[in-house]
Amino acid sequence: MTIQAVRGVRDILPGETVKWQRVEDTARRTFETYGYEEIRLPLFERTELFARGIGEVTDIVQKEMYTFPDRGGESITLRPEATASLLRAYIEHGLHVLPKPVRLYTLGAMFRYERPQAGRYRQFHQLDVEALGDEHPAVDAEVIAMLVEFFRRLDLTAPRVLLEVNTLGDAVCRPRYREELTHYLEAHAAALCAECRERIARNPLRVLDCKKPECRPVLDAAPALADYLCDPCREHFARVRAYLDALGIAHAVAPRLVRGLDYYVRTTFELTTSELGAQNAVAGGGRYDGLIERLGGPRDPGIGFAVGIERIILMLSEASAPPQEMSRPFALLIPLGEAALRALLPVARHLRAHARPLRVELGHGERRLPRELERAAKLGVGYTVIVGDEELARGEAKLRDMKSRQERSVPLLEVAGELLALAGRG
Ligand code: AMP
Repeated sequence: MTIQAVRGVRDILPGETVKWQRVEDTARRTFETYGYEEIRLPLFERTELFARGIGEVTDIVQKEMYTFPDRGGESITLRPEATASLLRAYIEHGLHVLPKPVRLYTLGAMFRYERPQAGRYRQFHQLDVEALGDEHPAVDAEVIAMLVEFFRRLDLTAPRVLLEVNTLGDAVCRPRYREELTHYLEAHAAALCAECRERIARNPLRVLDCKKPECRPVLDAAPALADYLCDPCREHFARVRAYLDALGIAHAVAPRLVRGLDYYVRTTFELTTSELGAQNAVAGGGRYDGLIERLGGPRDPGIGFAVGIERIILMLSEASAPPQEMSRPFALLIPLGEAALRALLPVARHLRAHARPLRVELGHGERRLPRELERAAKLGVGYTVIVGDEELARGEAKLRDMKSRQERSVPLLEVAGELLALAGRG
């Protein structure tokens, strides 16, 4: 019996990795122009970090974590998101002494025990960005602008992706709203789905997020947080929006955008698409003032977002992949026998070590010529270099242009130079 990958986990095969590299390169270049530096974090942490950092009553912590005791008996969890780990590292290494906001990004695999479907996996990858230690609304606007710019560089713009923003208030104004909302939902519980009813006491704001049509009438008529905001929260949101307008960034206010994580205050935002069926969020984030302190750190505010890389990959068309030729070897060097192999090994090394290296492949001398030529055709190489005993005796090689099928003899010592010249790198 063959062993297959675990459910919800995917291999990213060679044809696809080119797209991944493009997304990752674009992310690095975009984030670095905005002053962000990379941080690399462990894949697992103490379970307690996520319980405290994401919130005990969230779906992630209650239902989706990969948690297990390690051999020493400590409860370990594979990270379901990156923010908690990043903040742990920020506190642990005293990064708050750096000039603020401290701008960090990271990327890598996350793990959630979710029901797998297209665009939703149990191991998936996120790009994660955090700006720490500055509560000015301009930081919110710039973080959002950077997210939009990253997507623009991938040619993903409106109407393919849409930006939604909201504010969740803060510890001053949200509790009163939460109370009003809870009363309202309890009064209308009979008209809500079972999941919503169960959530009323635990996490009433999340109820607003329910997508089921039967819940819509009650939720549409629910009290709106916008009517309960305190003045500072109202002003913060107005300024974030004004800065986005100044940047010409189109955005819609989505009053029900509450996001799944517990720790958000004030600004939340999402990039959504209608191209991925039920999985309509490609990126999301928000402000989490107070969280760093809750994790035992300084009273630094923070804001950040996470982008799902798999979902971007699904949105990138074939046409946006770099042309095939770029991933084809320029030449296949074909030694026919052991002595020829020894003559061609240094030629291959020379081409690969050149200041503008050529991608070349080298046979090992044990396959016959027709088989090697077949391989050259499959690889799609532009040129083959053939060295058999006869050529070797004359100190020559046969250089064949695979397109025109023209063949000529070249002194062995000049083969590398010839190929570099043909590639325009002479
Ligand atoms: P979240 O951390 O839940 O706010 O998710 C941020 C982004 O990560 C989402 O907008 C998705 O693009 C992506 N994402 C979240 N969960 C998954 C998953 N199970 N599989 C693939 N992508 C995901």
